[in-house]
Amino acid sequence: MRRKVNQAINLSDYKDIWVIGEQREGKIHPVTTELIGEAKKLVEGTANQVMVVIAGHNIEAEVEKLLYYGVDKVYYINSPLLETFSTDGYSKAIAELILEKKPEIVLVGATSIGRDIGPRLAAKIGTGLVADCTKLEIDPSDGKLLQTRPAFGGNLMATIICPINRPQMATVRPGVMKKAVHEANAVGVVEKISPTLKDEDIVAKVVEMIPSGKKRINLTDAKIIVSGGRGIKGPEGFDLIKALADKLGGEVGSSRACVDCGWIDHMHQVGQTGTTVRPVVYIACGISGAIQHLAGMSDSDYIIAINTDPEAPIFKVCDYGIVGDLKEVIPAMMEEVDKLKA
Ligand code: FAD
Repeated sequence: MRRKVNQAINLSDYKDIWVIGEQREGKIHPVTTELIGEAKKLVEGTANQVMVVIAGHNIEAEVEKLLYYGVDKVYYINSPLLETFSTDGYSKAIAELILEKKPEIVLVGATSIGRDIGPRLAAKIGTGLVADCTKLEIDPSDGKLLQTRPAFGGNLMATIICPINRPQMATVRPGVMKKAVHEANAVGVVEKISPTLKDEDIVAKVVEMIPSGKKRINLTDAKIIVSGGRGIKGPEGFDLIKALADKLGGEVGSSRACVDCGWIDHMHQVGQTGTTVRPVVYIACGISGAIQHLAGMSDSDYIIAINTDPEAPIFKVCDYGIVGDLKEVIPAMMEEVDKLKA
């Protein structure tokens, strides 16, 4: 089943863009529609089609929903052995289909599942993988995929190509690409696939799923995020950040500095090694604006920065900048919000 890396292949045998669809407990993960949106952009002006491959069991109704995002075909790999995610089962089933159908490009979400399965798939099908891309384009001169990602700690952007192997594979983090628009009518078709999978193919078995017990937050879809940085001075500083977020109906974000100090859980971290967000309003409180933080929030519609240092780099990217102590500015903002609500 494995194809050797650098084994000569005919590039013209490969066509179409595939999105590796993701589902958790039978519900489609939002990264799937984000990748469909990007794939639709990439096929514009080419003969390629957008296809999704999704593995699971008895999720027909959920899979059908994907057709309303302008997908030409969904390959639905259905098996009781694929009901819960397993690296062995999913990578074997999907790799077999890729080797048979020969897509030109394969896009994977850089979620915990995507980060697991992406490299496995690439190794099984003998191609490369560019992880955590922030921009994808087609080179108009030769049709190759230009895969751009931060390099050297985010200090420069590298554009990487996959010249001799196919498919060209990239992972993209959730929240980076815009979701495909839900359309009134479905256009494509679902093709059901029965994989050649046996119980013994899955070495590591899921015995039980235990919820982490932590309250999950959804930074990716939040419309308002109030984020705290080292300027809050300690874990108790997040009480003020949370008070403003609650008043505005938003979520609490954080810079990595606060996460590294143990003041807040990593699930709140915004940035290159945290979550990429694009809310309507992002309020950065006591955050300097390091390039790695900006990488995760600079696409927000409106950025408001509160910082005591007028030279802080965050002021170069914000729409509204307030030079001042967050302990005075945040309560004043909350008072104004109360007045507006009264
Ligand atoms: P600081 O840079 O220390 O800034 C604190 C700011 O608070 C200062 O500007 C100060 O003027 C201001 N301030 C102080 N007191 C007050 C007050 N009372 N009121 C108002 N303002 C005040 N960082 C991330 O955030 N996300 C990432 O995903 C991330 N990934 C990284 C990946 C790599 C490979 C590397 C090398 C770094 C990464 N970083 C990331 C770290 C990043 O480089 C910065 O160190 C970090 O963002 C700094 O956090 P900060 O702005 O909270 O702290």
